[in-house]
Amino acid sequence: MTRKVKIGNITIGGGAPVAVQSMTNTDTKDIKSTVAQIKRLEKAGCEIIRCGVPDIESALALKKIKSKISIPLVADIHYDYRLAIEALKNGADKIRINPGNIGGPDRLKEVINIAKAKKAAIRIGVNSGSLKSNINYKLKIESKNKIANLMVASLMEYVEFFENEKFFNLVISLKASDVLTTIEAYRLFSKIRDYPLHIGVTESGTELGGTIKSSIGIGILLAEGLGDTIRVSLTTDPEMEVYVAYRILDALGLRKRGVDIISCPTCARTEIDVIKIAHKIEEMTKNIAKPLKIAVMGCSVNGPGEASHADIGITGSKKIGVIFKKGKIIQKVSKKNLLKEFLKEIKKM
Ligand code: SF4
Repeated sequence: MTRKVKIGNITIGGGAPVAVQSMTNTDTKDIKSTVAQIKRLEKAGCEIIRCGVPDIESALALKKIKSKISIPLVADIHYDYRLAIEALKNGADKIRINPGNIGGPDRLKEVINIAKAKKAAIRIGVNSGSLKSNINYKLKIESKNKIANLMVASLMEYVEFFENEKFFNLVISLKASDVLTTIEAYRLFSKIRDYPLHIGVTESGTELGGTIKSSIGIGILLAEGLGDTIRVSLTTDPEMEVYVAYRILDALGLRKRGVDIISCPTCARTEIDVIKIAHKIEEMTKNIAKPLKIAVMGCSVNGPGEASHADIGITGSKKIGVIFKKGKIIQKVSKKNLLKEFLKEIKKM
């Protein structure tokens, strides 16, 4: 059980539902585009949003952005403590920093003091790619994975710094692009401290590869009870990150949101265009928030039975299309009208 940390109007840790977050890829200074993207992400189910803050104009833009959105706003800061201070002054509910590159202990203390005054949270993230060479912290428990040990030891130096400053509103991330190292680092840290964990696999790749790596990395950790907020990092539209995050949470029975498509792999018995229909339905239903299992099965012999756990489904035979609910046929329609009638039924639900 991790401790509770408040990020704006959301609580993470302490048994709260695992929060889904993403990051904008617009220019933060372009307030209009950034707000529009955040709104799309909110609609997709994003609960915490992070914006990169590479310059002072971006930090100042946060104030307007925050006034137009309804989910907590996180500022992603590197190298310059003044950006962290401005981001906090302009309403960031949380900042994400690598304490090692913010400009030294005195500047870090200044950032901590403003965060305290603003009741903001700080995520301290150590990535395997940005480890310091002189780590003095000695871990009492070690993993067989040497990089994971170095990541956690490096992080612990920062954690103790924050604790000495009496700052406990911390969220932790320990990301490596290697899945097993990421898992080990989080496992190890969770034995040492109880701060909530932001989990994800960094630079995980494109939609297919990144989804696989993230599902395994995040999935294993969540299955072990680790992780309070997740970000699926993908080289694609950030809305996809949110959809994938919910599918991971759904698969583990942790949270339910949106449509889960159950479709058969197709075979020699296939009598409707399952591939096309399944993709079309996925696209057309992606903004439905209500949890719904929708089946697209290729033949009426096996389809309804195999997908009897679906809330609603379609299949077809040589001549007609069939709509079924919980395995029971409710409507037979011409194949031409199948998709249209099916979408009508889904809407009714
Ligand atoms: Fe083949 Fe029918 Fe199974 Fe689809 S549901 S894989 S078409 S047997």
